[in-house]
Amino acid sequence: MTTSGYNAKAYAAAAATSPLARTTIRRREPTARDVRIEILFCGICHSDLHYARNEWRDVLPAAYPCVPGHEIVGRVAKVGPGVARHKVGDLVAVGCLVDSDHTCPNCQAGLENFCPNLTLTFGSVDRHGTAPVTFGGYSDSIVVDERFVLRVPSNLNPAGAAPLLCAGITTYSPLRRFGVGKGKKVGIVGLGGLGHMGTKLARAFGAHVVVFTTSPSKTEDAQRLGAHEVVVSRNADEMKKHAGSFDFILDTVAADHDINQYLNLLRLEGNLTLVGAPPKPLALSSFALIFGNRSVSGSNIGGIPQTQEMLDFCGQHGITADVEVIPVQKVNEAWDRLVKADVKYRFAIDMASLGAE
Ligand code: NAP
Ligand code: ZN
Repeated sequence: MTTSGYNAKAYAAAAATSPLARTTIRRREPTARDVRIEILFCGICHSDLHYARNEWRDVLPAAYPCVPGHEIVGRVAKVGPGVARHKVGDLVAVGCLVDSDHTCPNCQAGLENFCPNLTLTFGSVDRHGTAPVTFGGYSDSIVVDERFVLRVPSNLNPAGAAPLLCAGITTYSPLRRFGVGKGKKVGIVGLGGLGHMGTKLARAFGAHVVVFTTSPSKTEDAQRLGAHEVVVSRNADEMKKHAGSFDFILDTVAADHDINQYLNLLRLEGNLTLVGAPPKPLALSSFALIFGNRSVSGSNIGGIPQTQEMLDFCGQHGITADVEVIPVQKVNEAWDRLVKADVKYRFAIDMASLGAE
């Protein structure tokens, strides 16, 4: 099926080794169920970079041109005749998903993130045929099925709300699944985009929060963001003090690292959940699991109903990401800083800068 389209401005990578550059892409005119959104801000997730540089080639090979971006906040500019949930002028958001089959058991359960026919915001086959693949949020507009368009609470700053759409839901979902709250000791590993959201959310849920960082310079920030304690993970003595004491640890690290040293910090039947997605497999010590009946899990973003629940929770508690707002022309520089763990604590691209080009 091919629908009529229009030209949109975007930043794209032409190949794994190319920097992002200004380009023009085709978007479809809204069909009956669609919402066209003028993008105000788009967060920069480490997944944008893993994917566009084809670091995940063994699992999820990249398609080019690649327009990354799945932390999108904007205003509704146009709606199709069948759209009931959103109207022109609303402040809305889009995360990692833009469509699914709507009918499978997972979709029916609100777990669209596990639909076998899901459409990711960028790099998936475009089921409307407007372009070979879907194009993400490093762009001035996007057209999305209304089911995948979220409402942004009006008290939240739009730039700070953008990262909630990936960093927010990806940490909210496992923290809820493992019952993180009052009386629980929780570790957050890595203080980047996901880690700083995990810290804020675990604190808001009432848990005792410990941040593990490789960057001693982030200690004060970690406390300001909600950590009761901060551990510099390269210091073996500091690590030892916490042996066998955690109910739950959320690992957000984007690069190769030793997870066994964290497993040893879990109490009996404690769980470590990986949300970080380093390209290479991690080494797992069976003894670190066996001694203590511990478990390791993974967690993949979250479904649409839980994403709305997370946004509403953040609205009620005034929670947003700490963002460094940049013009789109600085995006390559921002990606280089992301690799060096030099971001406090999420970049958000101000899309008005794209309009100026
Ligand atoms: P990020 O902002 O770059 O944060 C990652 C943090 O990991 C860094 O700030 C750093 O924290 C730590 N780190 C980096 N290199 C390290 C190393 N060599 N050893 C130990 N720690 C290191 O990245 P992000 O956007 O939060 O994403 C984190 C990971 O989650 C990425 O792999 C991303 O693809 C993945 N992700 C997964 C999902 C999902 O659904 N599961 C969703 C979104 C993202 P310190 O300086 O504090 O050590
Ligand atoms: Zn992401």
